[in-house]
Amino acid sequence: LSKIGVLTSGGDAPGMNPCIRAVVRTAIYHKLGVVGVKQGYQGLIDNDMYEMTTRSVSNILDFGGTILKTARCADFRTDEGMEIAYRNLKAKGIDALVVIGGDGTFTGALRFSKKYPDIAVIGVPGTIDNDLGGTDYTLGFDTATNTVVEALDKIRDTADAHDRLFFIEVMGRDSGCIALRAGISAGAEAIMLPEKETAITELVESLKAGEHNKKSSSIVIVAEGDKHGGAYDVAQIVKEQIKIYDVKVTILGHLQRGGSPSAFDRILGSRLGFAAVNALIAGETQKMVGLRGNSVALTSLEEALKVHEFKLEDDLMQMMEILSI
Ligand code: ATP
Repeated sequence: LSKIGVLTSGGDAPGMNPCIRAVVRTAIYHKLGVVGVKQGYQGLIDNDMYEMTTRSVSNILDFGGTILKTARCADFRTDEGMEIAYRNLKAKGIDALVVIGGDGTFTGALRFSKKYPDIAVIGVPGTIDNDLGGTDYTLGFDTATNTVVEALDKIRDTADAHDRLFFIEVMGRDSGCIALRAGISAGAEAIMLPEKETAITELVESLKAGEHNKKSSSIVIVAEGDKHGGAYDVAQIVKEQIKIYDVKVTILGHLQRGGSPSAFDRILGSRLGFAAVNALIAGETQKMVGLRGNSVALTSLEEALKVHEFKLEDDLMQMMEILSI
């Protein structure tokens, strides 16, 4: 092992910068070269890379996004694209990659590494969705959840002032992790998750019961992967069956992806970046570094891609219905 390339790919997530910083400084500490690859896999193909120093990553712990930029790169899906990437890596003397991203990023890394096994690859789970196997948390999930909670608190103020019913759509793709945790944190009256279908009739009944119990506002969180469509669709159906509140819809959208990483994500990013370099030094490849039970754990990329663990804790699921009565 002599030189590591580091890249961020797919959707950006807060915590990527602390992770890049940890990769760069751990590599340099061990007298390894480290090259920053711009725009994910696109930078490998376009040869858009630069040698990084300890100072390249100064004062970035608190930045959201990623200093290396990220991209969705169609060319890397082709054999020709991969070959160009391989040649560019070889020409720079890079013999290992740390890829920070989600499942698409890992799928690409695994394919590439099977084709060119002389380039070792270690993945770091970077996505706000928390939808990868082999890790309890992915980078950015905690920050995104906090961002949603902050928004919900603000919406509660205005909802309460006007006796309103709000439907709030939150991100997470097919995962309800952000929805569940943010909903419990902000006392949502109902949380609609992709993992557990909510019957509209039951939702309407519980909203009516809330009104009967003198609730002055109600917040229903709709995870973007919910089977009913989106928050507008759910609001439309409910509106026809309930006349008690003035109904409003808010789609939180991309603000959930931005912002300064939380302390949790800064620590997780640092920990996983550090672990990724140590794994490469130990001769590992085609693995993902993750956090399981508050310890760093290695999982094969295949396993990380296969196991979409059900990460909604049983007690949280029970609580969401009981604590909002
Ligand atoms: P997020 O979950 O935040 O969207 P992601 O890593 O899943 O992140 P994708 O856009 O799915 O995001 O994947 C990132 C990049 O990985 C793609 O733009 C592409 O360059 C590469 N990639 C994805 N799938 C493959 C594949 N089957 N073969 C080669 N490369 C791939």
